[in-house]
Amino acid sequence: LLKLCISGLKNLQNFYSNYNFFNNKEIFPKLQKLLSSDYFRFYKVNLNNPCPFWTDHSQCGLKYCAVKPCTEGEVPEGLKSSSYKYSEAASQDIEECEKAEKLGAVDGSLSDETRQALQEWKKHDDESDRFCMLDDEDSPKSQYVDLLLNPERFTGYKGPEAWRIWNSIYEENCFKPYSVKRPLNPLASNSGDLFLIKGQGFYRWLEGLCVEKRAFFRLVSGLHASINTHLSARYLLDENWFEMKWGHNVSEFQQRFDEELTEGEGPKRLRNLYFLYLIELRALAKILPYFERPAFHLYTGQRTQDNENKKLLLELLHVAKSFPLHFDETALFAGNKKEAMKLKEDFKMTFKNISRIMDCVECFKCRLWGKLQTQGLGTALKILFSERQIEAMPNMSNTNPSFQLSRQEIVSLFNAFGRISTSVRELENFRSLLSNLKQ
Ligand code: FAD
Repeated sequence: LLKLCISGLKNLQNFYSNYNFFNNKEIFPKLQKLLSSDYFRFYKVNLNNPCPFWTDHSQCGLKYCAVKPCTEGEVPEGLKSSSYKYSEAASQDIEECEKAEKLGAVDGSLSDETRQALQEWKKHDDESDRFCMLDDEDSPKSQYVDLLLNPERFTGYKGPEAWRIWNSIYEENCFKPYSVKRPLNPLASNSGDLFLIKGQGFYRWLEGLCVEKRAFFRLVSGLHASINTHLSARYLLDENWFEMKWGHNVSEFQQRFDEELTEGEGPKRLRNLYFLYLIELRALAKILPYFERPAFHLYTGQRTQDNENKKLLLELLHVAKSFPLHFDETALFAGNKKEAMKLKEDFKMTFKNISRIMDCVECFKCRLWGKLQTQGLGTALKILFSERQIEAMPNMSNTNPSFQLSRQEIVSLFNAFGRISTSVRELENFRSLLSNLKQ
């Protein structure tokens, strides 16, 4: 069995060896450095939104699910002042905003250009081009969380509650054609295996779907595979009064991804993880002109560090752009214009629904990372489908482009990609752990 698992992983590794090498050597180290900076580690999130889909929703009491929000003093001043939102405005405008804010000044004290920049920003800060729901950062319920202090790892969240979330994501939101008989409701059966309905379940109805809808399923499945890779790689191995030991749990990984144990599904799920990686990588490559504009700042109020971070970010994006095997997103939504528009709207609505489902995840730690990763993927999709606006950017006056990203979108985009990049790296770690076990 061990042999089979290693050979399954090896085949996958061989097939994806270009991606592994590129990720592990070029992308991963730069990304980790960037994500440890203040701009990217503090994420503002509302973990107290009510679940909009069902009411029998309980709080999870698992201790590993707890999230520790930041205290006032832990968050850099520059992030707390509302001027961070306006990273679009030129630097003197940011300073002007800050001054006005500190003095408690009303809009009237801002220069015409600053006011115009803010108005432009607000105008674009709307729902229309988004693929996911964003939390209201101004709500008193939203709090900053230090992502480095609340890492994604094993929490013990499982059973019917976790299945209900995955089930509702797949069953309700994956455009399943109604003519195909639905699998049994897993919550009504004793089986823990929701979707392993080989030959008549998931993969059968997938065959009948158009390329966009299949892509959608693969993205969700890739995200699921990534989360399950993380929990296997940062598993609670031992615990006593003084410390907890976290590390790789090879048999947990095998249970989830071994070809034999999952009746062939595991490797497909890992392929979906690579698919998700490629989609997000492509989005990073495309967004380069947006971040390259001199008017863009990764604003935290610490000028030297902010400038260094921008340099690092641009280096990373240039590397992403240089990848020779990019996903070609023009194959999506390429048919009849009217149908393609309709499909794109469906895609958007469905993805927004998935981001709402994250408010139903009982385990707060899982909810935090689930929200962040769906927001990040939503942002990647927004980028991929805003090609014309982004391409027009270098020719435009630099303060008011027609395409905008909020700080929340930027932080979630890079951290979500950081998760997938870490998963790809963990696959290599599991491969060597498995071959050590064999020897
Ligand atoms: P599950 O992973 O719950 O899967 C349910 C069924 O879906 C499986 O039986 C299988 O048939 C199918 N399936 C599994 N993987 C895939 C895939 N990639 N593609 C398609 N179908 C698939 N747990 C933690 O310990 N830490 C976390 O940070 C964490 N975050 C989570 C975030 C969210 C949003 C959710 C919903 C759950 C999270 N969990 C987390 C729980 C974790 O994902 C599993 O649900 C849990 O470990 C139970 O696993 P399971 O083996 O019962 O199968």
